[in-house]
Amino acid sequence: MNNIKLIDFYVNPKIPDKLNKLNILCYNLWSTWDKHAIRLFNRIDPILYRQCNHNPVELIHNVSARRFDELANDRGFIFELNSVYKRFASYMNFRGFYYSSDDKKQFFDEDKLVAYFSMEYGLHESIPIYSGGLGVLSGDHLKAASDQGIPLIGIGLLYKFGYFSQKINHEGLQEETWKLNEWFLMPVKICKDEEDNDLIIKIKILGEEVLIKVWYISIGKIKLYLLDTDLPENKKEFRQITDKLYDSDREIRLMQEILISFGGLELINRLNLNVVVYHLNEGHSAFVIIERLRKMINEEKFTLPEAKLLVRNSTVFTTHTPVTEGNEHFKIELISKYLKHTIEKIGLSFDEFSKDGMIPDDQTHFWLPALAIKYSKYTNAVSKIHSSVSKELWHKLFPSLLKNEVPISYVTNGVHTQSWISKELSSLFDRYLGESYLHTAEDKSVWQNIKNIPDIEIWEAHKRRKEQMISFIRSRIELSHAAKKVNYTTPKKIRTILNPDILTIGFARRFAPYKRANLIISDTERILGLIKNNHKPVQFIFAGKAHPADMQGKKLIKELIDFAKIHNVEDRFVFVEDYDINVARHLVQGVDVWLNNPIKPFEASGTSGMKAGVNGVINLSVLDGWWPECYNGSNGWAINAGENLNNYDAINYAEAHQVYDLIEDEITELYYRRDETNIPSAWIEKMKNSIYTVGMGFNFHRMLRQYIDKYYIPCYNSTLDLKKNDYSLLKSFLEKEKQIFAHWEKVYVKDFFPKTINKDTPYVNTKMVNSGDTIQLEAYVFLDEMDPALINVEIFYQYQQERHYQIIPMKYIESYKDRVAKFEGEVKIVSSGLQGFNVRIAGKNNKIISPYYNYMKWKEF
Ligand SMILES: *Cc1c(COP(=O)(O)O)cnc(C)c1O
Repeated sequence: MNNIKLIDFYVNPKIPDKLNKLNILCYNLWSTWDKHAIRLFNRIDPILYRQCNHNPVELIHNVSARRFDELANDRGFIFELNSVYKRFASYMNFRGFYYSSDDKKQFFDEDKLVAYFSMEYGLHESIPIYSGGLGVLSGDHLKAASDQGIPLIGIGLLYKFGYFSQKINHEGLQEETWKLNEWFLMPVKICKDEEDNDLIIKIKILGEEVLIKVWYISIGKIKLYLLDTDLPENKKEFRQITDKLYDSDREIRLMQEILISFGGLELINRLNLNVVVYHLNEGHSAFVIIERLRKMINEEKFTLPEAKLLVRNSTVFTTHTPVTEGNEHFKIELISKYLKHTIEKIGLSFDEFSKDGMIPDDQTHFWLPALAIKYSKYTNAVSKIHSSVSKELWHKLFPSLLKNEVPISYVTNGVHTQSWISKELSSLFDRYLGESYLHTAEDKSVWQNIKNIPDIEIWEAHKRRKEQMISFIRSRIELSHAAKKVNYTTPKKIRTILNPDILTIGFARRFAPYKRANLIISDTERILGLIKNNHKPVQFIFAGKAHPADMQGKKLIKELIDFAKIHNVEDRFVFVEDYDINVARHLVQGVDVWLNNPIKPFEASGTSGMKAGVNGVINLSVLDGWWPECYNGSNGWAINAGENLNNYDAINYAEAHQVYDLIEDEITELYYRRDETNIPSAWIEKMKNSIYTVGMGFNFHRMLRQYIDKYYIPCYNSTLDLKKNDYSLLKSFLEKEKQIFAHWEKVYVKDFFPKTINKDTPYVNTKMVNSGDTIQLEAYVFLDEMDPALINVEIFYQYQQERHYQIIPMKYIESYKDRVAKFEGEVKIVSSGLQGFNVRIAGKNNKIISPYYNYMKWKEF
């Protein structure tokens, strides 16, 4: 070490005036997904572009002055630049359908915003601030919001080091390196204040000031703000908060989550943004709730109950984690150390407040999703199956509800089609679907014309992608061998790695044990039989990172690599290092079949299969996550042999052999069956079904439309209602809650009397009930002094193996005697089988004043 210091300064690249538009284009991420823009940047210098990881900013910083001169004098290039720029301008001027006068589509005004909070964003391979699916989903959320013209901002952290790069060493073990991010070479800019100085905001952690520098990324029309504490003015402990994504040090992690929440809100405040909906993507940013309460109470002078009501009506929470342990939680002492001070400012004791983060069988931890669920108007899971898993998981927070009724709905994930579709298919879409799918992919009629694309065109497009993928993988392997200084592979040998004529199965995802990357090698003889088959051979491509602390995940990678070595099939069973968005894009566009075999029900949604499916890569997947909602028998294959088994060994065995059977009996058969023109028309039929169903159902526009219709707009409207006439509705709700609370202890359902009416031959009071019968109920409820208008007495009726239920309000008939009131109602019996019902009392407006149902009493027996 020496003490020589240099003063850093930044030099702009010298771009000829004629090419000035490049400077604008490269700083908007639109240029990383629009195919015409990509082609333009590629034209500048294809090799350099690839070396720069397709990062347009890095590219223009590295283009030589001579090349710029050439381009400035190249009329063809200027023409292309201008036409791309025109596309960009027209994209940016697109006002979105939510501002149209068409009433059904009316969204709130442009100056009212949704604030989206996420710890990671997977926007592009050159911005490594993501680790996996959650990040890619957040990135796609912002891109689709831009496409659709939705007023939204993203809030996240600017990590000094990118998520790690993966190398596999000689022993087949994963090694991690963290590269320093060079922001001035990325499409990231510094936010400026009114005087054009760097915008610095402040929050307090442990009573000390933390300075935060604010950066932003332009994603079409959307801004993603990224917070950075790596400033010389901050002390060391604070500077390192934004070092790494998901820092494994618990205290740093907690500070990261305080930073995104408190810092995010401070930024909104500083920029004077009118945020009307707060969308918390996963539990990490749940402290937004605490800080919003504090601000409302301390700065805007609301009471605690008022503030709670307002927060609850403007928060949306998306849960992604189907196992309790994987959900974010901290020791109570740690939460107390960092947040007690803030919580006491709200006027609550820490003990009182911390209950909102606890789950019943654990009084020692604070669970962020628990807090988020209790303070959100809507909580959603990310697929239909995941919603029922989440209901089960969080049922413990709702002791007064049956599992079925736990208010966790779902919006199944989607993918931003433009970012994932190959350029070859994209140009077919332009020609056969028309370009409108760029803005309106959620319109189902757009997708019908997929069927009209000639087979040969789809097949040629796919073949081309496959060849490109293979050459991409070969050059990666060559580079990696060169870096490791191993030269046992000659260029000739490299050229034999993978064969474009062979059926290719891809598997790429995080190497978390539940995803079972090694399932396919569980029977050596059968897998080798597939690979070495003379007539219908199969080759495999794997990619994925294990979490640095996940020894089991790392072992899985080693198992795959060892398998290929031991059996001498390294040219047909390939592991691609350093899975990222770039590798993902190559694989989901280039393989033939996408294999997904997690243990059900641990895959909340999964999105890589959607990226594959929309590219005509056919899914072979466990019926978990999103797949059951898409699979229809003709668009892919389903793995379900373990469905009725309950022991993991048996499930693994059954599903592995089902996969082998499917590959042997159906997949290879279909793939290698060629018609007279030598194309596999039955296979292409399946590809088209896949593109059609996945493109139509699982694009991000459909997903975002559902978030808007189901959550964003209702949140906005109910907040608006609460505020009307100087908060009169808000006040009346709270007044009513007070009255309910005053008598709640005492009220109960004393008794009820059912009688059955048969629609054909009237009979009453029998235990035999037929479908179509009506049950009439008389209930007697002890009301004490409670005004019956403050409660609902309702029949809860459940049928079809608890899958369905109805809530039927009962009518107040009269005050009976001794403060007991009579209510009446009737249930029409539907379907058949074992069913159930009961009567309960619920506070009026339970959903608004007490979203986790404090006011609910069932008749006890
Ligand atoms: C799409 C994607 C994922 C998520 O894939 P899953 O199917 O959810 O496992 C993870 N990592 C990268 C780089 C991706 O592009």
